[in-house]
Amino acid sequence: MLFTADHDEPRRILQKFIASDINPHVEEWEKAGIFPAHELFKKLGDLGFLGLNKPVEYGGQGLDYSYALMMAEELGAINCGGVPMAIGVQTDMATPALAKFGSDELRKEFLAPSIAGDYVACIGVSEPSAGSDVASIKTTARSDGDDYVINGGKMWITNGTQADWICLLCNTGDGPMHRNKSLICVPMKTKGVSIARKLDKMGMHSSDTAQIHFDDVRVPKRNRIGEEGKGFTYQMVQFQEERLWGAAACIKAHEKTIQNTIEYTRSRKAFGKPLLDNQVIHFRLAELQTEIELLRSLIYRAAEAMLAGEDVTGLATMAKLKAGRLGREIPDACLQYYGGMGFMNETLVSRSYRDSRLTSIGGGADEVMLGILCKMMGTLPGRQ
Ligand SMILES: Cc1cc2nc3c(=O)[nH]c(=O)nc-3n(C[C@H](O)[C@H](O)[C@H](O)COP(=O)(O)OP(=O)(O)OC[C@H]3O[C@@H](n4cnc5c(N)ncnc54)[C@H](O)[C@@H]3O)c2cc1C
Repeated sequence: MLFTADHDEPRRILQKFIASDINPHVEEWEKAGIFPAHELFKKLGDLGFLGLNKPVEYGGQGLDYSYALMMAEELGAINCGGVPMAIGVQTDMATPALAKFGSDELRKEFLAPSIAGDYVACIGVSEPSAGSDVASIKTTARSDGDDYVINGGKMWITNGTQADWICLLCNTGDGPMHRNKSLICVPMKTKGVSIARKLDKMGMHSSDTAQIHFDDVRVPKRNRIGEEGKGFTYQMVQFQEERLWGAAACIKAHEKTIQNTIEYTRSRKAFGKPLLDNQVIHFRLAELQTEIELLRSLIYRAAEAMLAGEDVTGLATMAKLKAGRLGREIPDACLQYYGGMGFMNETLVSRSYRDSRLTSIGGGADEVMLGILCKMMGTLPGRQ
């Protein structure tokens, strides 16, 4: 069994923290278009939530992946998608490769303060001209003695305006596209790093998203995670945690949307009876709840496989794909049953409708997930 009585205490602490220190501020942060990452992450770091499954030598709790999954699920109780996503970037998107493949020195310098909540991290993969096609990124890190000199730019970077460091994927050689890349930890205060602009988004309003430029940015080679040329492979490993996180964070969020819709349609009357009493509505909500339960089972199965040391590429990809599909289906169906109120910004379902749309795009679009699965199934053209 994935969760035991040992998960109850951290789960309860996190639920309490979300209710007392996050949800009361969400409206203000959504309006401001940003949340105070340093302040919030410090509190989460002090509670041990930024390193549940990270090594104890660097301040982590040294627990297994089931605890990280428990946290991703609980973050779905936050009344927006932006804040959970920013936390997920810190714990499950920008730091897994560093924790697994980084040198001791590098982990002390970047991982330990990220686990403590003293540093805010971001992950730099996507570029203006390459998102789905990760291998085609253009940012380069040229070797110059003991340093790399970085030039290029990254796009749509979550936490980008507040981050202390970026886990940067760039080309460190001219060889084959999958073997010429490295992941490098770059402090955002380094000369030559600039925030080109804070991006204006349709959803995820409380999360800051940046376009970042790198002009002759000099960092020591010791800032490279693991071996030179292995960055693409490390990032593909890192994506497995990102995709499972993205799927797990949807579960509670969608359940909450369904529960809110039940309450609203029970209280709203049309044609002499509550809207909920229409079979077409309560049957549809039951069907959507079933879909959530199926997604949950798939994610738990992937987590169990990960705990058993198995490759979870297929299951994590399916979970991300299914979460993306449900992220469009559930808020859309629920918003419909709110009628005009669903179209109002003051109603949470409209925020969920906007925020959930990202699941089908970020961390690899649905079509990229399908491509990975087809490759595994041997159904891509020209493959037997
Ligand atoms: C709010 C937000 C936050 C983000 N945060 C980060 C971050 O922190 N770090 C980071 O590195 N990136 C981040 N991203 C970028 C995100 O990962 C990319 O947007 C995503 O990978 C898609 O890349 P793209 O936008 O370049 O789309 P493109 O590659 O231009 O693709 C456009 C569309 O074409 C379709 N498509 C693509 N390939 C295929 C194919 N082979 N077959 C059929 N159809 C296809 C898909 O529908 C896709 O959505 C973020 C994006 C957003 C919007």
